[in-house]
Amino acid sequence: MTVSIAEETLNPYKIAQQQVDAAAALLQLPEHVTNILKHPKRVLSVSFPVRMDDGSIRVFEGYRSQHNDAIGPTKGGIRFHPEVTLDEVKALSMWMSFKCGVVGLPYGGGKGGVICDPRTMSKGELERVSRAFMEAIADFVGPDKDIPAPDVYTTPQIMGWMMDTYSRLSGKFSPGVITGKPLIVGGSKGRNEATAQGCVYTILAALKDKGLPVEGATAAIQGFGNAGRIAARLLSEAGCKIVAVSDSKGGIYNAAGLDVELIGQLKDTASIADYGKQYSISNEQLLELDVDILVPAALENVITAVNADRIQAKIIAEAANGPTTPEADRVLAAKGITVIPDVLANAGGVTVSYFEWVQNLMHYYWSEAEVLEKLETNMIQSYVAVRDLAAEHKTDLRTAAYMISIKRIAAAMEARGWI
Ligand code: GLU
Repeated sequence: MTVSIAEETLNPYKIAQQQVDAAAALLQLPEHVTNILKHPKRVLSVSFPVRMDDGSIRVFEGYRSQHNDAIGPTKGGIRFHPEVTLDEVKALSMWMSFKCGVVGLPYGGGKGGVICDPRTMSKGELERVSRAFMEAIADFVGPDKDIPAPDVYTTPQIMGWMMDTYSRLSGKFSPGVITGKPLIVGGSKGRNEATAQGCVYTILAALKDKGLPVEGATAAIQGFGNAGRIAARLLSEAGCKIVAVSDSKGGIYNAAGLDVELIGQLKDTASIADYGKQYSISNEQLLELDVDILVPAALENVITAVNADRIQAKIIAEAANGPTTPEADRVLAAKGITVIPDVLANAGGVTVSYFEWVQNLMHYYWSEAEVLEKLETNMIQSYVAVRDLAAEHKTDLRTAAYMISIKRIAAAMEARGWI
């Protein structure tokens, strides 16, 4: 079925449901099972007042969606962003279920979001919003129920505040309620780099499969947050040539290669645009560059029916959640572009979150080398399983990844007598 550009939906929830349908058809899943997977089990919508620095009181809105808890507690980040919507959070919680499934974690998917713009808030305001949101959802989450983590514009410090609020409310130190915390209060070594690190492991495996050398492979990275920034560093350390990067304000491009360290310094002190006017490029242009590797590491719906045709990368590794629409997926597949789907490419983050949670429950902490070794093994095994299943069913990596996850979730629902 072809969908015209005019018909293409950019609603992430509808997109996630279309993706479930595609995998369910190949698995010949009964309709009631597909229907369970197409809807989150529980959704909480909250509204809470916070006193701002100027003395005024602002009312914030936030959400937490728990998609499926057949395999274990739900797990997934909380994003702070002005454009957060309920449908987006629902979709992100579905993607978390499939992400945990594809890398074999004993979790279902969850996700949260608060409509706010941390870029315009003071540290005090950010702390009060973080604590108030955790207070509003405290009954809904817990180390054995639903475990949040960082996501877009949320940081280890925010996780620290949220863990503190939850611990105060429950009257005991509860590090297992949230992951991505600062190391000193139960964070895991390697968690900060985990999303990018996992993504790089899959990129290196995909380069090998395509017979492309790592040394000198060109890469463009859209988004310079936790995932994009660290992916740029790790890819460059692996021997790739980073030719373009961007953040929400715009990007820079140099075919001869960029100085990744300098860009990091500029991001911290001023703006990456200060790298030089002559290198300036838009986010849209960056996506269409002739590179070996394209890493969308920002938000949803950046590769759509509108630009898919113009994408020239050989490998797309989705460090972001939901960057590619189903219609774009079809175009990219027809062009022979390998898309390492979000549920696999960025699963390193939640994998090390799982390690963090396990360490919290055991009160026993691992070395960075131990964490990285376990991460690499898990990412490569998962990549190989997805690649092989895709080849077997002559389908794309996303559909194969969903098939693996859906099979696991369906088996758990059956074992529990839900279906
Ligand atoms: N927000 C990250 C994601 O989308 C991490 C989730 C987690 O660590 O629970 O995968």
